[in-house]
Amino acid sequence: MDSIYDAFTDLVEHSDVLLAVYDETDRLRVANDAFRRTFHLAAGETPTWIEIMRRNHAAFKGTAIQAADLEAWLISTQSRRGKTPFRAYETDLVDGRWLWMTETVRPNGWMLCIANEITDLRREERLLRQDRDLAMRAAQTDELTSTANRRFVFGRLEALISAAALVPDSALSVCVFDIDLFKSINDRFGHQGGDMVLRHFTNLVHRVIRRTDCFGRIGGEEFMLVMPGSPAENSLVFVEHLLAEARSAYPLPDRPAVTYTCSAGIATYQPGDTAVSLYGRADCALYRAKTEGRDRARLSLETLPLAEQS
Ligand code: GH3
Ligand code: MG
Ligand code: MG
Repeated sequence: MDSIYDAFTDLVEHSDVLLAVYDETDRLRVANDAFRRTFHLAAGETPTWIEIMRRNHAAFKGTAIQAADLEAWLISTQSRRGKTPFRAYETDLVDGRWLWMTETVRPNGWMLCIANEITDLRREERLLRQDRDLAMRAAQTDELTSTANRRFVFGRLEALISAAALVPDSALSVCVFDIDLFKSINDRFGHQGGDMVLRHFTNLVHRVIRRTDCFGRIGGEEFMLVMPGSPAENSLVFVEHLLAEARSAYPLPDRPAVTYTCSAGIATYQPGDTAVSLYGRADCALYRAKTEGRDRARLSLETLPLAEQS
C-alpha cells in the first residue's frame, strides 16, 4: 500500500458495510461496492438520490417503498432528508433484508451514509419499531402536500438559529409564502382545485431547493422556506425565480388556462432572534408584498440600506 489513505480506501471498498457520500445537491459522489450492489449502481455512476429511488422502484430493486404514491413518498422523504446533523433509522430492501442506516450531514450539505445489515437483529420487536417510525413521520409531515409540516419546519428553524448564534456573520434567511387570492381559487374550482394548487407549489419548490434548505407548509395556503447560508439579496433572487415559475405554470390539468400567483416575505437572522421574531419579520415583509400588489417578494426592512427603510 502506498499510504494509509490507500489502505483505508481498499478496506472500505471490500467491506460489507454500505458506504456512500452525497453532495449538497443530493448527488451520489462516492460509494463502495456493497452500496453499489445494494442499489444496483454501476461503477462510476453518480445519479441523484431521487434518480436512484425512482430507478430502483421501477425495477423492483433497492429500498422497499410501501407507499401507494411514489411521488408523495419522495416529497415526504426529501423534505426531512439531510436536515439534521445526524439521523439513524431502520430501512428495508425489496429483497427482504433490513439495514440500519445512519446519515451524517456537514453544514456545507455533504452527507455520509453508512448502513449495516441487521435482518436478524431483534426481529421480534421490528413491528413495534416500524410503528414508532411511521408515527414519527406522520407527526412531521403535512398530509395534503406530503411536505414537512409546521412543527418540523419551526423545529429546524430553532436549531438553525441556535447554530447561527454561535458563528459570527452567519447568513440565515427565512421566506414566508402565501398564495394570492386563494379563496377565489377555491370558489371557482372547488376545494379540490385549491388542493391541487397547494400540491403544485410544493412540488415546484422541492424540485429546486438545496438539501440544506428546509421547506414546509405552515398553514392553510402558507409555506415557509428556511435557507441557511443564504444572505438576503441571494434569497430574494432565488425566491423571485420561484414566484416566476409559479406564475407561468398551469396547476390544474383539466383546466389548462388557469394560473396562480404567490407573494413572499423574506427576513434574515439578526443576533438575538428567536424563531418567532424571525418569522414575524418575514411575515411583515409578506404583508408589504400583499399591500403593494401581490405576486412579488419583499425583503424585511432591517435588511435594506437605511435610506430605503421607510
Ligand atoms: P390573499 O391574497 O390576501 O392571501 O387572499 P387569500 O384569498 O389567499 O387569503 P385568505 O387568507 O382570505 O384565504 C385563504 C383561504 O385558504 C381560506 C381557506 O378556505 C383556504 N384554505 C385553507 N386551507 C385550505 C386547504 O387545505 N385546502 C384548500 N383548498 N383551501 C384551504
Ligand atoms: Mg393566508
Ligand atoms: Mg393567500
